[in-house]
Parts: sequence; structure tokens; C-alpha cells
Amino acid sequence: MRVCVIGAGPSGLAQLRAFQSAAAQGAAIPETVCYEKQPDWGGLWRYDWRTGVDEYANPVHGSMYRYLWSNGPKEGLEFADYSFDQHFGKPIASYPPRAVLFDYIEGRVKKAGVRDWIRFSTVVRDVTYDAGTGLFTVIARNGETDTESSETFDHVIVASGHFSFPNVPYYPGFESFNGRILHAHDFRDAREFEGRDILILGTSYSAEDIGSQCWKYGAKSITVAHRTAPMGYDWPDDWREVPALEKVEGKTATFRDGTEKVVDAIILCTGYKHHFPFLPDDLRLKTANRLATTDLYKGVVWTKNPRLFYLGMQDQWFTFNMFDAQAWWVRDVIMGRIALPDAAAMEADWQKRQADEDAFDSDHDAIVYQGDYVKELIAETDYPSFDVDGANEAFFQWKKHKKKAIMSFRDNGYVSPITGTMAPPHHTPWRHAMDDSLASYLQSSEAAE
Ligand SMILES: Cc1cc2nc3c(=O)[nH]c(=O)nc-3n(C[C@H](O)[C@H](O)[C@H](O)COP(=O)(O)OP(=O)(O)OC[C@H]3O[C@@H](n4cnc5c(N)ncnc54)[C@H](O)[C@@H]3O)c2cc1C
Repeated sequence: MRVCVIGAGPSGLAQLRAFQSAAAQGAAIPETVCYEKQPDWGGLWRYDWRTGVDEYANPVHGSMYRYLWSNGPKEGLEFADYSFDQHFGKPIASYPPRAVLFDYIEGRVKKAGVRDWIRFSTVVRDVTYDAGTGLFTVIARNGETDTESSETFDHVIVASGHFSFPNVPYYPGFESFNGRILHAHDFRDAREFEGRDILILGTSYSAEDIGSQCWKYGAKSITVAHRTAPMGYDWPDDWREVPALEKVEGKTATFRDGTEKVVDAIILCTGYKHHFPFLPDDLRLKTANRLATTDLYKGVVWTKNPRLFYLGMQDQWFTFNMFDAQAWWVRDVIMGRIALPDAAAMEADWQKRQADEDAFDSDHDAIVYQGDYVKELIAETDYPSFDVDGANEAFFQWKKHKKKAIMSFRDNGYVSPITGTMAPPHHTPWRHAMDDSLASYLQSSEAAE
């Protein structure tokens, strides 16, 4: 049996680790081939300074930027089979910068020895399914050698992420704006906006975090326009929330309440599209960014062809450990340890999950809902069980800390749901910590002084 994994980000790597852990216990595992379009693993956590197209003329995958620190507590994403304490050899603070999380992600898969399973710099171009043979044909292009391959697989697991293809709205006057307009996907370095008046559209994590980065690195003012409701945090003095943008003329932005602001740059924090250009209509997931995804049984099985799986396609509170829970579960379906129900039952499953999701509207309930989903999956596999309620608690505290002080919530610490260790404070408060390197983060408080 041959299995194809598309993407070596946290989700795809979870799948490789899941198969490797079964092999380590003596099970016969399928031949697993992972295609990764970037030259290295880590997905979004691999920093790419490029925007537009990559070195092989494919759309750049990366949406992360310099100085990005985890926007949620690390205790909510910790791997149950590889704790932070184990990787770093000591407890570390709760909101690590990107490079630290990349190191952590990499540590586990280096230890598992799965790098050889990955074909780097190889983008999947096309996937088709032949009902006669029951096989998928995967066509991929290796950018380094500029050659195309075509191979068949019994199963395909799509782990290509959904925060890479920008959703780009249009507002009157954009075409003649006398400044810079960019989507969050192309934002790389807050220093570019030092001394500038910035307009941000949207109220997502990106809006909040890119605004905070620009503030931290010296933007003159931040204006955030919302379509429905403001984020409502206690923002610093040079930060204002305004109603939706109506138009721009020259450098002047006009908002729905008639107020105006002259701005140098407009950053579109307007979300991303689930986009799978390599899949035909009958295999392609079409879903909103929500907790219960459309057409996926248990959030992972493509109900219209259960030989195809998707990982990590949900809106995310939980991340790495949820991808693990999914990957272990998918592994067990493929290895015949878990049986799938009939098509009608699989349809009913995602519809019920969506109805349950639609019945609540608080973040608190959303966290509990996704935590319950993680519990449900890990109860059905041998993924190490962990204190999911403890992880929920870290998320609840995080929400409170943001409400209390949006520019210093990252100075708090939480208890690990894996080891029970309390995270120590970071040596420098986030707003004064300008160096986001691994070395700086791991310095002791004494050394940092
Ligand atoms: C700006 C930003 C900040 C974030 N911050 C946090 C945070 O602080 N904490 C947190 O938990 N989560 C955060 N996230 C969420 C993030 O989605 C997850 O942490 C995680 O990266 C998702 O993993 P993934 O493997 O599903 O997708 P990705 O990380 O997107 O990885 C997908 C992989 O698939 C590859 N790929 C795509 N298409 C193809 C193809 N056709 N062929 C071959 N390979 C392909 C890509 O190159 C990539 O390596 C953030 C997301 C963004 C955009």
C-alpha cells in the first residue's frame, strides 16, 4: 500500500510521525511519500522572506513575518509525545517566537527520522482518482530538477494548509491609492512601517498581531477598520478602531461613519481561502473557515471518497496536538484499525458537528468544542492522552490576559498540559524584546541583563 501526504507543515509532519510511531512499535506501515513544495519542512513556521512567487515560480506559501511570536499560549499546542521541556531541556516561557516553535517542530521529526520520506522542492500539480483501479495518480514537479513525476497511491492525505492564499477585497479608489496596499500574506517586516500611518482592514488575529507589531516597531499610528464589530481591546493612544472603509482618494481613507484618515499604507487582514489548485472538483474541499468543516467525517475523511483525507482544515484554537490527533486517527483508518461507517452516517456526522457548532457563539464554547473534538479522536487511537482540559484552561487565561492588557498578554505563563510544569516568565517583556532569535529567547534572565 502506498500513501501520499501533500505538505510537510505541522499537519503533514504529524502524519509522518504517526506512521513512524506505529513502525517503531513493530507494525507494518504503508510506504509513505510526502511532497513538499518548499525546500525545507515546517510549513508556515519556515520563514520565507519572499513574497509573490518562490524560487521555482510557485506562489509563496509563507504568511509569517519577522518578529512573529506565538499568538496563543504554547501550552495549547504542545505535542503529547514530545514536550517543550523534553526538547529544550528546561521550561521555557509561554509565547515563543516563530524560530523557537520551528525548532520544536523540527526536533520531533528529526528524532523520528522521517526526513527521507519527504520530496522537498516538489509541488503537487494534479491529483486524479480512478474508480476502476481504486488508485490516485499524483503529478508533481520538482523545482530543483525541473522535472515532472507521476505516481499512483492508494490514499492521499491533503495537508497543504489554508492560510496561504489571500482573500483580497476591493474598495473604491484602491487602484489610485498613493501609498502601499498589501495583504497580510505579504507582510514581512514591521520596520518597513516605522513612522507611518497604517490602516488595517479586518479584526482577525492578523489584524491584531500585525497592528501590534507595527506599533511595537514604531509606526506613527494604527487605524483598524471593522465591518461588524471592533476588537474592543484597550489599545494604546496611537491606535484607533473605526467602522468599515468606504473608499480611498489619494491617501485619504473615508469610513462608514464619515470620518477620514490620511494613511501611508493599507494592510488587508481579510483572511485566507481554502484553495487546492491541484484537486479536481470531485475531490476538492469547499468549506468556510470553521470548527466543523463541510464534507469531512470526523473532520478528516472526505465523505465523497473516503480514501482521501484532509488534515488541519479547521479554524484553529488547538493546532499541533489537534493535527496529531487527526493524523493518528487517519493512520489507523488506513491501517485497518478503525472502520469507517457507511456514507449516510459519515454525512450525518459532519452535519451534526456543524449544527452543534452553530448552536454556540462564544469563544469559551468554541474552545471547549474543539477540545472535546481532540479528546474524541485521541480516545480512539494510541496517541498519548493529555490534559486537554488543562490546555483549555490555558486558552481561557490567555483570553482574559488579552482583555486585561493587549500589549503585554505575552508576558504571562501557563501550566503545561503534558508535564505539569509552570512556564517561567520571559527575561524581557514582549514590547521591549526586539530580538526574536532562538538564541535570544533561550538566554537566561541573568545573561539577558
Ligand atoms: C501569520 C500566521 C500566524 C500563526 N500563528 C500561529 C500561532 O501563533 N500558534 C498556532 O498554533 N498557530 C498559528 N498559526 C496557524 C497555522 O496554521 C498552524 O500553526 C500550522 O502552521 C498549520 O499547519 P499545516 O501543516 O496544516 O499548514 P501549513 O503550515 O500551511 O503547511 C502546509 C505545507 O504544505 C505545503 N504545500 C502547500 N501546497 C502544496 C503543494 N501543492 N504541493 C506540495 N506541498 C504543498 C506548504 O509548502 C507547507 O509546507 C498561524 C498562521 C498564520 C498564517
